[in-house]
Amino acid sequence: MPELPEIEVLARHLRPLLRGKIIRGVDVRRAKVLSPTAPRQFRRILLGAKFTGLSRRGKYLLFQLHSQSVAPTVTLLGHLGMTGRMFLARKNVRQPKHAAVVLDLGGENFIYEDTRYFGRLTLDMTAIQKLGPEPLSDNFQPAKFREALKRSRQAIKIKLLDQKLVAGIGNIYASEALFRARLSPRLAANRLTVAQVKRLWRAMRGVLAEAIACGSTVPLNFGAGKTDGLFYFGRAPGTPDFYAERLRVYDRAGKSCPNCRRPIKRIVQAARSTFYCPHCQRA
Ligand SMILES: [Zn+2]
Repeated sequence: MPELPEIEVLARHLRPLLRGKIIRGVDVRRAKVLSPTAPRQFRRILLGAKFTGLSRRGKYLLFQLHSQSVAPTVTLLGHLGMTGRMFLARKNVRQPKHAAVVLDLGGENFIYEDTRYFGRLTLDMTAIQKLGPEPLSDNFQPAKFREALKRSRQAIKIKLLDQKLVAGIGNIYASEALFRARLSPRLAANRLTVAQVKRLWRAMRGVLAEAIACGSTVPLNFGAGKTDGLFYFGRAPGTPDFYAERLRVYDRAGKSCPNCRRPIKRIVQAARSTFYCPHCQRA
Protein backbone atom coordinates (compact mmCIF):
# COMPACT_ATOMS: atom_id res chain seq x y z
CA MET A 1 0.00 0.00 0.00
CA PRO A 2 1.42 3.37 -0.97
CA GLU A 3 2.40 5.66 1.88
CA LEU A 4 3.45 9.31 2.17
CA PRO A 5 6.60 9.12 -0.02
CA GLU A 6 4.90 7.25 -2.87
CA ILE A 7 1.98 9.69 -2.88
CA GLU A 8 4.38 12.64 -2.80
CA VAL A 9 6.29 11.24 -5.78
CA LEU A 10 3.01 10.68 -7.62
CA ALA A 11 1.81 14.23 -6.85
CA ARG A 12 5.07 15.69 -8.18
CA HIS A 13 4.77 13.56 -11.31
CA LEU A 14 1.13 14.39 -12.05
CA ARG A 15 1.16 18.10 -11.10
CA PRO A 16 2.77 19.49 -14.26
CA LEU A 17 0.91 17.00 -16.46
CA LEU A 18 -2.50 18.06 -15.16
CA ARG A 19 -2.02 21.81 -14.82
CA GLY A 20 -4.31 23.73 -17.15
CA LYS A 21 -6.16 20.65 -18.42
CA ILE A 22 -9.92 20.93 -18.72
CA ILE A 23 -12.28 18.08 -17.93
CA ARG A 24 -14.40 17.49 -21.04
CA GLY A 25 -16.04 14.27 -19.99
CA VAL A 26 -16.63 12.35 -16.77
CA ASP A 27 -17.09 8.59 -16.90
CA VAL A 28 -17.85 6.98 -13.55
CA ARG A 29 -17.66 3.19 -13.76
CA ARG A 30 -17.60 2.37 -10.05
CA ALA A 31 -19.79 4.78 -8.10
CA LYS A 32 -18.46 3.24 -4.87
CA VAL A 33 -15.13 5.08 -5.17
CA LEU A 34 -16.90 8.49 -5.16
CA SER A 35 -18.75 7.78 -1.94
CA PRO A 36 -20.39 9.69 -0.35
CA THR A 37 -20.44 12.02 -3.39
CA ALA A 38 -23.22 11.02 -5.79
CA PRO A 39 -22.18 10.37 -9.42
CA ARG A 40 -24.57 13.04 -10.71
CA GLN A 41 -23.13 15.70 -8.42
CA PHE A 42 -19.59 14.56 -9.25
CA ARG A 43 -20.25 14.95 -12.98
CA ARG A 44 -22.04 18.27 -12.63
CA ILE A 45 -19.22 19.84 -10.60
CA LEU A 46 -16.28 18.44 -12.56
CA LEU A 47 -17.51 18.87 -16.11
CA GLY A 48 -15.75 21.90 -17.61
CA ALA A 49 -13.49 22.37 -14.57
CA LYS A 50 -9.79 23.10 -15.03
CA PHE A 51 -6.94 21.52 -13.04
CA THR A 52 -5.00 24.30 -11.31
CA GLY A 53 -2.93 22.47 -8.69
CA LEU A 54 -2.13 19.22 -6.96
CA SER A 55 -0.89 18.74 -3.43
CA ARG A 56 -0.65 15.97 -0.87
CA ARG A 57 -1.90 15.56 2.69
CA GLY A 58 -0.91 12.34 4.46
CA LYS A 59 -1.63 9.56 1.98
CA TYR A 60 -4.20 11.69 0.11
CA LEU A 61 -3.91 13.59 -3.15
CA LEU A 62 -5.67 16.96 -3.28
CA PHE A 63 -6.52 18.03 -6.82
CA GLN A 64 -7.38 21.72 -7.05
CA LEU A 65 -9.78 22.68 -9.81
CA HIS A 66 -11.26 25.88 -11.06
CA SER A 67 -14.91 25.47 -11.90
CA GLN A 68 -17.11 28.02 -13.61
CA SER A 69 -20.38 26.28 -12.90
CA VAL A 70 -20.42 25.87 -9.12
CA ALA A 71 -18.01 27.18 -6.51
CA PRO A 72 -15.02 28.98 -8.04
CA THR A 73 -12.60 26.43 -6.61
CA VAL A 74 -13.20 22.76 -6.05
CA THR A 75 -10.98 20.21 -4.36
CA LEU A 76 -11.04 16.60 -5.43
CA LEU A 77 -9.68 14.10 -2.91
CA GLY A 78 -7.83 11.04 -4.17
CA HIS A 79 -6.72 7.99 -2.21
CA LEU A 80 -5.15 4.93 -3.79
CA GLY A 81 -6.29 2.40 -1.20
CA MET A 82 -4.46 -0.90 -1.58
CA THR A 83 -4.13 -1.24 -5.34
CA GLY A 84 -5.18 2.04 -6.94
CA ARG A 85 -3.25 3.87 -9.65
CA MET A 86 -3.83 7.30 -11.12
CA PHE A 87 -2.25 8.23 -14.42
CA LEU A 88 -2.70 9.95 -17.76
CA ALA A 89 -3.03 7.88 -20.91
CA ARG A 90 -3.47 8.79 -24.54
CA LYS A 91 -6.97 8.21 -25.82
CA ASN A 92 -5.96 5.56 -28.36
CA VAL A 93 -4.54 3.31 -25.59
CA ARG A 94 -6.92 0.60 -24.44
CA GLN A 95 -8.34 1.41 -21.02
CA PRO A 96 -7.70 -0.93 -18.09
CA LYS A 97 -10.44 -3.39 -17.15
CA HIS A 98 -10.65 -2.00 -13.64
CA ALA A 99 -10.87 1.69 -14.53
CA ALA A 100 -13.08 3.16 -11.80
CA VAL A 101 -13.21 6.75 -13.08
CA VAL A 102 -12.07 8.16 -16.42
CA LEU A 103 -11.82 11.92 -16.96
CA ASP A 104 -11.63 13.05 -20.57
CA LEU A 105 -8.97 15.79 -20.84
CA GLY A 106 -9.03 16.26 -24.60
CA GLY A 107 -6.10 14.36 -26.14
CA GLU A 108 -5.63 12.27 -23.01
CA ASN A 109 -7.63 10.59 -20.30
CA PHE A 110 -6.99 10.81 -16.59
CA ILE A 111 -7.55 7.28 -15.36
CA TYR A 112 -8.15 6.10 -11.83
CA GLU A 113 -7.74 2.34 -11.91
CA ASP A 114 -8.35 0.13 -8.89
CA THR A 115 -8.65 -3.65 -9.00
CA ARG A 116 -10.08 -3.81 -5.49
CA TYR A 117 -11.92 -0.47 -5.33
CA PHE A 118 -10.66 0.37 -1.83
CA GLY A 119 -9.44 3.79 -2.94
CA ARG A 120 -11.38 7.02 -3.38
CA LEU A 121 -11.86 9.89 -5.79
CA THR A 122 -14.39 12.11 -4.10
CA LEU A 123 -15.51 15.65 -3.35
CA ASP A 124 -15.97 14.73 0.33
CA MET A 125 -13.14 16.05 2.53
CA THR A 126 -14.09 14.34 5.81
CA ALA A 127 -11.17 11.92 5.57
CA ILE A 128 -8.51 14.60 5.88
CA GLN A 129 -10.15 16.67 8.61
CA LYS A 130 -8.79 14.65 11.52
CA LEU A 131 -5.31 13.97 10.20
CA GLY A 132 -2.36 14.67 12.47
CA PRO A 133 0.61 16.83 11.45
CA GLU A 134 2.64 16.30 8.31
CA PRO A 135 5.79 14.55 9.51
CA LEU A 136 8.08 16.58 7.25
CA SER A 137 6.56 19.94 8.23
CA ASP A 138 7.49 22.34 11.04
CA ASN A 139 4.18 21.46 12.70
CA PHE A 140 5.64 18.11 13.64
CA GLN A 141 7.78 18.75 16.70
CA PRO A 142 9.33 16.26 19.16
CA ALA A 143 7.74 17.86 22.25
CA LYS A 144 4.18 17.65 20.91
CA PHE A 145 4.87 14.22 19.47
CA ARG A 146 5.95 13.01 22.91
CA GLU A 147 2.82 14.48 24.53
CA ALA A 148 0.65 12.54 22.10
CA LEU A 149 2.61 9.32 22.69
CA LYS A 150 2.25 9.77 26.47
CA ARG A 151 -1.49 9.31 26.12
CA SER A 152 -1.21 5.84 24.60
CA ARG A 153 -0.25 2.45 25.97
CA GLN A 154 -0.33 0.87 22.53
CA ALA A 155 2.83 -0.65 21.10
CA ILE A 156 4.75 2.11 19.32
CA LYS A 157 4.56 0.34 15.94
CA ILE A 158 0.76 0.20 16.12
CA LYS A 159 0.55 3.80 17.37
CA LEU A 160 2.62 5.10 14.45
CA LEU A 161 -0.08 3.86 12.06
CA ASP A 162 -2.62 6.15 13.77
CA GLN A 163 -3.19 8.92 11.21
CA LYS A 164 -4.37 11.29 13.95
CA LEU A 165 -0.93 11.06 15.60
CA VAL A 166 0.98 11.82 12.42
CA ALA A 167 -0.22 11.65 8.82
CA GLY A 168 1.09 9.41 6.07
CA ILE A 169 3.01 6.67 7.91
CA GLY A 170 1.96 3.12 7.09
CA ASN A 171 3.25 -0.35 7.71
CA ILE A 172 6.45 0.02 5.66
CA TYR A 173 7.80 3.29 7.03
CA ALA A 174 6.73 2.49 10.62
CA SER A 175 8.99 -0.59 10.54
CA GLU A 176 11.79 1.30 8.78
CA ALA A 177 11.70 4.27 11.19
CA LEU A 178 11.77 2.04 14.27
CA PHE A 179 14.75 0.15 12.89
CA ARG A 180 16.60 3.38 12.24
CA ALA A 181 15.76 4.63 15.74
CA ARG A 182 16.84 1.25 17.24
CA LEU A 183 13.52 0.92 19.09
CA SER A 184 11.56 -2.26 19.66
CA PRO A 185 8.21 -2.18 17.83
CA ARG A 186 6.67 -3.65 21.00
CA LEU A 187 7.66 -0.77 23.27
CA ALA A 188 4.58 0.93 24.78
CA ALA A 189 4.15 4.41 23.29
CA ASN A 190 3.93 6.07 26.73
CA ARG A 191 7.19 4.46 27.88
CA LEU A 192 9.44 6.18 25.35
CA THR A 193 12.02 8.47 26.95
CA VAL A 194 12.66 12.01 25.72
CA ALA A 195 15.80 10.82 23.95
CA GLN A 196 13.99 7.90 22.31
CA VAL A 197 11.18 10.15 21.06
CA LYS A 198 13.75 12.52 19.59
CA ARG A 199 15.51 9.61 17.88
CA LEU A 200 12.24 8.28 16.48
CA TRP A 201 11.19 11.74 15.31
CA ARG A 202 14.48 12.15 13.45
CA ALA A 203 14.31 8.60 12.05
CA MET A 204 10.77 9.09 10.70
CA ARG A 205 11.74 12.27 8.89
CA GLY A 206 14.89 10.63 7.60
CA VAL A 207 13.28 7.53 6.12
CA LEU A 208 10.46 9.54 4.53
CA ALA A 209 12.71 12.20 3.02
CA GLU A 210 15.10 9.56 1.65
CA ALA A 211 12.23 7.56 0.16
CA ILE A 212 10.91 10.66 -1.61
CA ALA A 213 14.38 11.44 -2.94
CA CYS A 214 14.83 7.86 -4.12
CA GLY A 215 11.33 7.59 -5.63
CA SER A 216 11.90 10.87 -7.49
CA THR A 217 14.76 9.24 -9.41
CA VAL A 218 12.75 6.20 -10.52
CA PRO A 219 11.66 6.57 -14.15
CA LEU A 220 7.90 6.33 -13.91
CA ASN A 221 6.10 4.69 -16.75
CA PHE A 222 2.43 5.11 -16.09
CA GLY A 223 -0.04 3.51 -18.38
CA ALA A 224 -2.67 0.90 -18.89
CA GLY A 225 -1.52 -2.68 -18.48
CA LYS A 226 2.02 -1.79 -17.39
CA THR A 227 3.72 -3.87 -14.71
CA ASP A 228 3.58 -2.62 -11.20
CA GLY A 229 7.00 -3.05 -9.61
CA LEU A 230 6.95 0.09 -7.51
CA PHE A 231 3.69 -0.38 -5.65
CA TYR A 232 1.18 1.20 -7.98
CA PHE A 233 3.86 2.84 -10.07
CA GLY A 234 4.53 1.57 -13.51
CA ARG A 235 8.22 1.50 -14.38
CA ALA A 236 10.26 1.52 -17.52
CA PRO A 237 11.22 -2.05 -18.47
CA GLY A 238 14.66 -3.11 -17.30
CA THR A 239 14.84 -0.64 -14.41
CA PRO A 240 16.62 -2.30 -11.49
CA ASP A 241 14.52 -2.83 -8.40
CA PHE A 242 16.46 -0.38 -6.25
CA TYR A 243 13.33 1.22 -4.86
CA ALA A 244 12.40 -1.93 -2.92
CA GLU A 245 16.07 -2.74 -2.22
CA ARG A 246 16.53 0.44 -0.20
CA LEU A 247 14.25 -0.93 2.56
CA ARG A 248 16.32 -2.21 5.48
CA VAL A 249 13.87 -4.45 7.35
CA TYR A 250 10.45 -4.30 5.70
CA ASP A 251 9.53 -7.58 3.98
CA ARG A 252 12.99 -8.98 4.74
CA ALA A 253 12.14 -11.69 7.28
CA GLY A 254 14.99 -14.21 7.57
CA LYS A 255 17.41 -12.01 5.64
CA SER A 256 20.36 -10.52 7.45
CA CYS A 257 20.15 -7.23 9.32
CA PRO A 258 22.24 -4.57 7.54
CA ASN A 259 23.72 -3.64 10.96
CA CYS A 260 24.49 -6.87 12.79
CA ARG A 261 23.93 -9.58 10.14
CA ARG A 262 21.53 -11.47 12.39
CA PRO A 263 18.18 -12.46 10.82
CA ILE A 264 15.32 -9.96 10.54
CA LYS A 265 12.20 -11.16 12.29
CA ARG A 266 8.54 -10.83 11.32
CA ILE A 267 5.87 -10.54 14.00
CA VAL A 268 2.17 -9.70 13.77
CA GLN A 269 0.82 -6.64 15.61
CA ALA A 270 -2.84 -5.62 15.29
CA ALA A 271 -3.18 -8.04 12.36
CA ARG A 272 -0.35 -6.35 10.42
CA SER A 273 3.19 -7.56 9.79
CA THR A 274 6.04 -5.86 11.60
CA PHE A 275 9.66 -6.44 10.57
CA TYR A 276 12.54 -5.72 12.93
CA CYS A 277 15.92 -6.85 14.20
CA PRO A 278 15.54 -8.29 17.73
CA HIS A 279 19.24 -7.67 18.35
CA CYS A 280 19.48 -4.03 17.20
CA GLN A 281 16.00 -3.01 18.40
CA ARG A 282 16.08 -4.11 22.03
CA ALA A 283 15.14 -0.81 23.67
ZN1 LIG B 1 20.55 -6.07 13.70
